[in-house]
Amino acid sequence: MKIQRLREFWIWFKTLAVKKTTTERFIKRFAKIYTPVVVALAVMLAIIPPLLGLGEWLTWINRALVFLVISCPCALVISVPLSFFGGISAASRNGILVKGSNFLEVLNQVSVVAFDKTGTLTKGQFEVNQVLPAGGVSETKLTGYAAAAEQQSTHPIAQSIIRAFPIAQTDYHVTRTAETAGHGIEAVINGVTVVAGNEKALLANKIKLPQLTTSDTVVYVALDGEYAGAITVADCPKADARQAVAALNKHGSIETWMLTGDSEPVAKAIGAEIGIDNVAGGLMPEQKVAIVDRLTAEAHNKAGKVAFVGDGINDTPVLARADVGIAMGGLGSDAAIEAADVVIMDDQPSKITTAIAIAKHTKQIVWENIIFALTIKGIFLIAGALGVAGMWEAVFADVGVTLIAILNAMRLQRSASRKRH
Ligand code: ADP
Ligand code: MG
Repeated sequence: MKIQRLREFWIWFKTLAVKKTTTERFIKRFAKIYTPVVVALAVMLAIIPPLLGLGEWLTWINRALVFLVISCPCALVISVPLSFFGGISAASRNGILVKGSNFLEVLNQVSVVAFDKTGTLTKGQFEVNQVLPAGGVSETKLTGYAAAAEQQSTHPIAQSIIRAFPIAQTDYHVTRTAETAGHGIEAVINGVTVVAGNEKALLANKIKLPQLTTSDTVVYVALDGEYAGAITVADCPKADARQAVAALNKHGSIETWMLTGDSEPVAKAIGAEIGIDNVAGGLMPEQKVAIVDRLTAEAHNKAGKVAFVGDGINDTPVLARADVGIAMGGLGSDAAIEAADVVIMDDQPSKITTAIAIAKHTKQIVWENIIFALTIKGIFLIAGALGVAGMWEAVFADVGVTLIAILNAMRLQRSASRKRH
C-alpha cells in the first residue's frame, strides 16, 4: 500500500516536472529574448550618453547598473510557476490531485463535462430488487449460478449479486470464465455454460430473451444457451451529483453529458434524477471514445475543452483521450487513476466545480503577477534611465516586486482552506 502511494507520488512528481503550461513556456521564451535585450540596452545606456557629452561616465555607468538591477526578470520567472504550484497545492488540500500545471490551464477552458454513470455519478453500490426466474428454472438455481459466475467479476453489479445470494463455493466448480467489458460475464460451472449480463451479452450468444420494462439495471441469465431468468439491480445517485451538475450548468454554462454502458431506460431515469442535459446509454467502451472525440472536435471549434469523468477500467481509453481526464480516486480502478490527469480522492462529483474554481483563481493570480511585474518594471526602467530612480528603488523593483508576486501566489493557499468547508 505504502509502495503504491510512493509510486503514485513519483509519477505525479515526474509529470509535474515535464508538463509545463503554455504560460510557463511563454515566460521562459520571453525571458530568453528579454534578458539579452535589456543587457544590450544597459551597455548602450552606459556608453552612448557620455560619448555624446551628455554627462559624466560615472553617472551613466551608475544609471546603467540601476537599469540592469531593475530589469531582472526574477519576478516573472519565479512567480508564474510558483502560482501554478500554489494552484496545484490548493487543489490537493481539497482532495484533488492535479498531475501537472498544464491541466489547470485546460480546466479553465472546459466547456463540456462528460460523465460515466456507474461509480461516477451513482454510488456504484447496487441492490438487488427483483429475481425473475423463467423457463421452469427454480429461483435458487438461477441465483446460485448467477452468483457463482459473478464471483469471477469485480464489476459493482457482480458484487451486489454475490452479496445478495451467498453460496457455498464448494458446490460450484468453475472451469472457464470470460468477462466482456460493457457486456457481462460468461463461465462454465459444473459443466453448465452460464451467461450473465445485459441484453447485448445474451444477444451476442444468440439467446432469445423477453423485453422487461423496468428502470432497474437488468442482469439476464442464460444456462446452456437457454434464457433462465433475470435479476434486477438498482443504484442510486451520489448525494452531491445533482448539485454538481447544476453548478456546472449554471456556473460557466458548461454542457454536461452522461455516457454509460447501462441500458437506455436506466440512463434516462438516472439522468432525469440528476438533471443532466444529455444522456447516451447502451454504449460499449469504444462508443464512449467516439462520442467524446466528437464532443472534443465540436468544443475545439469554439475554443473550448472537454473533460471526461470516469472510474472504471472500461473508462481508461476515454480518460486518456479527453483534454482532461478526471478519475474517482476512491472507487476508481488503478488503471483509471493512472490514465487520468486529475484524481478526485473522495469521489465527490462536486469537486469538479472546486477544481475549475481553483484553476480560474490560479489563472487570475498568474496574470495579476505578470501585469503587476511588467508595469512596475516598465515605470522603474524609465525612471532608472532618466536618473530619477537610484539603487534603493532598483532593489525594490527587483526583490520587492518578486516578493509581492510570491505573496500574491500564496493567496491561493488561503482560498483553498476557505473552500474546504
Ligand atoms: P458504466 O458505463 O455505467 O460504468 P459498464 O460499462 O461498466 O457501465 O457496464 C455496462 C453494462 O454492462 C452494465 O450496466 C451491465 O448491464 C453490463 N455488465 C458489465 N459487467 C457485468 C457483470 N459482471 N455482470 C452483469 N452485467 C454486467
Ligand atoms: Mg463506471
